[in-house]
Parts: sequence; structure tokens; C-alpha cells
Amino acid sequence: MAVLGQLTPQQTIALENKYGAHNYHPLPVVLNRGEGVFVWDIEGKQYYDFLSAYSAVNQGHCHPKIVNAMVQQAQTLTLTSRAFFNDVLGKYEEFACKFFGFDKLLPMNTGAEAVETALKICRKWAYEVKGIDENEADIIVCENNFHGRTTTIISFSNDPVARKNFGPFTKGFIKIEYDDLEALGTVLKNNPNVAGFLVEPIQGEAGVYVPQEGYLAKAKALCEAYNVLFIADEVQTGIARTGKLLAVDHENVKPDILVLGKAISGGVYPVSAVLANDRIMNVIKPGNHGSTFGGNPVAAAVAIAALEVVRDEKLADNAEALGNLFRKELNKYSDTSNIVNLVRGKGLLNAILINDSEESDTAWNICLALRDNGLLAKPTHGNIIRFAPPLVMTKKQLLDCVSIIIKTLKQFEK
Ligand SMILES: *Cc1c(COP(=O)(O)O)cnc(C)c1O
Repeated sequence: MAVLGQLTPQQTIALENKYGAHNYHPLPVVLNRGEGVFVWDIEGKQYYDFLSAYSAVNQGHCHPKIVNAMVQQAQTLTLTSRAFFNDVLGKYEEFACKFFGFDKLLPMNTGAEAVETALKICRKWAYEVKGIDENEADIIVCENNFHGRTTTIISFSNDPVARKNFGPFTKGFIKIEYDDLEALGTVLKNNPNVAGFLVEPIQGEAGVYVPQEGYLAKAKALCEAYNVLFIADEVQTGIARTGKLLAVDHENVKPDILVLGKAISGGVYPVSAVLANDRIMNVIKPGNHGSTFGGNPVAAAVAIAALEVVRDEKLADNAEALGNLFRKELNKYSDTSNIVNLVRGKGLLNAILINDSEESDTAWNICLALRDNGLLAKPTHGNIIRFAPPLVMTKKQLLDCVSIIIKTLKQFEK
């Protein structure tokens, strides 16, 4: 059978095309191995990974400490469901609560589930603590948000591709411009039924939009003034990606509800989490919410190891230092280039704006050329390319990557 033999890249891609639903449009490269900042394709070609599975692999591919924690636990106990206690979950919950500074954690598996969980907690808090009339709570969200793919989450997306023909949608969301404090203040002032404000500290999928300095702190203060929960979706920006443990740490903001996913497992296992203090989390009672796999022993063991790596290897500091270097070097290039309009980002979450129309395929073609030159990245929206390598990168490797990127961009100068 072909499944056991070695296939060519073309055969592998053809299999996915024939038997897999077409819900992604991957760059044509077929990977079969990863280590640290590198991945290899099935013909043995090595690449720098500049996507890191959308920032899930911050600790680098197949980090031995995390993989080892997974293997050890998988050989001992994998799943009990939450019908019984297991001996790892409590340890993980304590570790993560102390790591991020919250009273309690609710474990889930994917980012979208964690966002859904946060929305449910927020609504329940609104009715039982804030005193909003049942079914009347509103949650404020931002234009161009990305919070996942469930029916409720796409209900407040404004991406037509993500939404069209998936209705009817969930009610109870008010959308405002991102990075617009006046809009936030106006909605808060005019609507006593607002329960929460759900926000990405940097909008990743939208194209790495970094809000003005002070936005998060002022938004948090506004929420406090109106007794509204500030819900930070740090699924992409969290866990050292932007040069601090959390992106909200840049402005010393403490969210009321923190949503984590992706790199909380270092990319080896689906793990997500919602953290909050007791005054909020205690609205959740047995039977209110759950997940068969959420909080399983493997997930718990993996997440402890993944967070220890972030701390022990000082990944936030490395992301901060390398991010500054990356933007400095690329800005120098973009000043003299007619193909790059702008470089932006924080830590090692960065993007470049390609000088072409949103509909053009220039960014895609640049990513194909980057692949040929040994570096994997993907356009986010239209003409924006996101650059998010694993945070275990060295300075020498980063400079090597900068030269690959600049060499490639030069091929596209007009
Ligand atoms: C990826 C992402 C999600 C969704 O996570 P999944 O694990 O894909 O469900 C939610 N929010 C943000 C900001 C993300 O980047």
C-alpha cells in the first residue's frame, strides 16, 4: 500500500487534494521532520520555519524536554475524562495559575474552544454577578478579529470567507474598530448591558496589527470603570512570542480573563486554557461546561514542560532581542526597496506589507521563492507576509534568515 511506501511530494499533495476536505490552501511543500527552528521536506531539503504553526511551536520543533514529558505520560496514563481525578491535572493547574498570576484555570484543547469558554464564563458572570437581565448581555469585539472557527466565533468575524453561508449566527456581540478607544468608550457609555470586551493584544491573523502604545492599558481602565470584563485572547501573542510572557505585559495590563492556546503545549499536543480569578471563575459549577479531553494527563504534563522551557530558556528575552534586530535589519532594507512598504510587529511576531494590491498574488509568489531559498512563511491577508520563527532561534540564525528574506525580496523589486 502506498501509505507505507515513500511518496513523491506531488503524490502526497494529490492524496490530500483527493481525500481531504479543501478547507486550507497550503504552500506546496511536504514536511516530514522538524527540530528546533528547522523543518525538512520529504526530499531532505532543510528550511527555516517562519510560521511556527501560527506561533504554536514557540519552543522549537520537537523540543526534547516537551516530547519526553509527553512520551512518559503517554506510557503511564493518557485519559480518564473528568469523571475521575487524575494525578497531573491539579499540579498543572497550580503551576499555570502561579506562572500567569491567576486563581483558577479551566482546561480545554483548542484555541477556539478556549475563546468559547471565555465567552460563556463572561456571560454567566454578567447575569449572576453584574446583574444584567438574562439573555441581554453583550460582548464587545473588534473589526478584523480572529478568534477561531466555531459558529459563535464566526458570528462576530467580518471575514466574508469565514462567514458566508454558515448562518444563522449567534447574537450578543457589538463590533467596534480595533485600536479605537473613543469607539470603546462610546459603546460602554451607551450600553449598560455590556459584559465583556474581547480583544487580541496584537491582531495576528489580520496581518500583525500592533495597536498604539497605551491602547491596552486605557481599554482596560475603561472596562474597569464600567465593570466590564477585559478578555485577552493571547492564543497567538502569548507565551513569549512578542518579547514578554504575555503581550499585555508590555502595558502592565492584567486581563480579567486570559485565553491561551497554541504554544502552551509547544505545538506537540492540542492544549488550551482559560484563566481568571475566583470572583469570575467561580460562576462555573459542575455540569456547566466541559470537554472529554480537556485537562487530560498528557495535556497537563506537556503544558508544564512547555511552560518550563519558556521560563528556563528565557524565550521572552530572546524574542525581544531578536525581534528588535529583525525589524532594524528589515527596516533598513525597506527604506531602499520598492517591494516592501512597511515592517511591523513586536518581539518575533512581525509582518511585512508588500507593495502591491490586496488581490495580487505577489505575496504568495514571494513565499514560493522564500521556500525555494530555504525559508517557510505564508501570507496572512492579501499582500501581508507574517514572520514568526520559533523563539529558540540564535542571533546567527536570525541574521542568516534576514539575508535569505532580503535576497528573495530583491528578486521581486520592480
Ligand atoms: C489560532 C487562534 C485561535 C484559534 O485557535 P485554534 O486552536 O485554531 O482553535 C484563536 N485566537 C487567536 C488569536 C488565534 O491566533
